[in-house]
This record gives sequence, C-alpha cells and structure tokens, in this order.
Amino acid sequence: MNAPTRTAHHTSALVLFSGGQDSTTCLVHALARYPRVETLGFDYGQRHSVELQARTVVLQKLREQFPAWAGRLGEDHLLDLAVLGKVSETSLTRDMAFKMEASGLPNTFVPGRNLLFLTLAAALAYRRDIQVIVTGVCETDFSGYPDCRDDTMKALQVALSLGMDHRFLIDTPLMWIDKAQTWQLAHELGEDSGVEGGGNALVDLIVEHTHTCYLGDREHRHDWGYGCGQCPACELRARGWSGYRAA
Ligand code: ZN
Repeated sequence: MNAPTRTAHHTSALVLFSGGQDSTTCLVHALARYPRVETLGFDYGQRHSVELQARTVVLQKLREQFPAWAGRLGEDHLLDLAVLGKVSETSLTRDMAFKMEASGLPNTFVPGRNLLFLTLAAALAYRRDIQVIVTGVCETDFSGYPDCRDDTMKALQVALSLGMDHRFLIDTPLMWIDKAQTWQLAHELGEDSGVEGGGNALVDLIVEHTHTCYLGDREHRHDWGYGCGQCPACELRARGWSGYRAA
C-alpha cells in the first residue's frame, strides 16, 4: 500500500468525504491512523442529493457502531461549489445522458475538479491547523481522470505546501489498490477497530449506506448495495464486490 511514513506532526487529517465507498474507506483509514479527523464535502449542484444524504448517514452510523473512532471524529464541513456546475457542462450537473466522449473520458468529467477540491481542502486544513489531507483517488481502476493520478497528487502536495508555506501531506490509501482490495481494506480496518465482528459490520455499513451510482438510484438493492447496476460506477462497484467475495 502507498502509506506514507507518519511522523509526530501528523496528528490530524482532513478527509475528502463524498459518502461513497472509496471516500468512506479513506475516512476509516484516517480514523485508524490519526487522532483527530475532520471531513469535507462539496455541494456542486449534483443532479441527486443522494450523495449528500449518504454522507450524513455514514457519519452517524460510524459514530454509533465504532465507539473508538467516534471519539476521533470531529467537525464535518460542507462547501458550496455551485460555481463548478456553471463552468462545466457534464452529465453529473445537467440533464444529459451519461456517455463516453471521443477523448476517452466519461462526460461526467469536470476538468480539474480534484485540483479545485484539493486546493480548497488545503485552505481549510490550513485554517484548522491540519497537516494531512486524505483523498480516495486511484490509478488502479483507471477511469481516465488525469487529476486522480499519483503524479498529479505529488505535484499538488508540493504546490500547495509551497503556496501556503505549510507542510501538507496528501495521503492516498487507495492509489494502488483495486476495488476488490478496497472492500478487503475496509474489512481489515473494521477487524482492527476493537469492535467484535467489526470487519463484517463495517463492510455491511458500506454496502448499505454509501452511495456510488451516477444516476442516484436508491431503489434497486444488489448484494453490493444500491444503484442502477448499469452505469460505470455501478459496474465498477459490482465487479469489485465479486472479486472481494471470490477472494
Ligand atoms: Zn448506477
């Protein structure tokens, strides 16, 4: 795993938390690793508020079911990023069908979205005196998003640290693992939580309460959770689940 060396300075973390499987696993990774953890979400005019509702429910369930982590979980921040919907015409923010574009990128791609997210996260982390920013970007299940690549993250870490004269660490626990291994990581973190049967409990929590589907479908329940079952996000989640269950 791509776990950076933790030093005495790394006592607090800000997790980019959308309410999906990946960012929930990142949040749990942070809770297992850092004494003080805060969360950050963005409201940028998603077609479905399902994701934002999932954030609240996941935070609540984690607090209820995992007492050791509840004590570490601090403030949740939600920033209004409606401006992102204004500069981008994508299928996430407008009523267009999801499709792949000639560039090979899905039309859900908002150019440079993660650059904005991480810059705002760093500004907030600076104000909150937080050193580590945790994000669920991943190169392994490569969906073509250039702002999720490891080189982009390393360049941003340097740029943000220089530009704010504050040493940030960008922690990307999912960068080199696939979706099956992300389920497995959640299971391991749950097992180490101090809760009896915590591995399965955490996996169940993620299945039931996190949201990944691009279409915001909460009607169709599969063994891997809710979703339309057709969009690329559902396909990736379902494939990862099968791999995890078969392992
Ligand atoms: Zn879907």
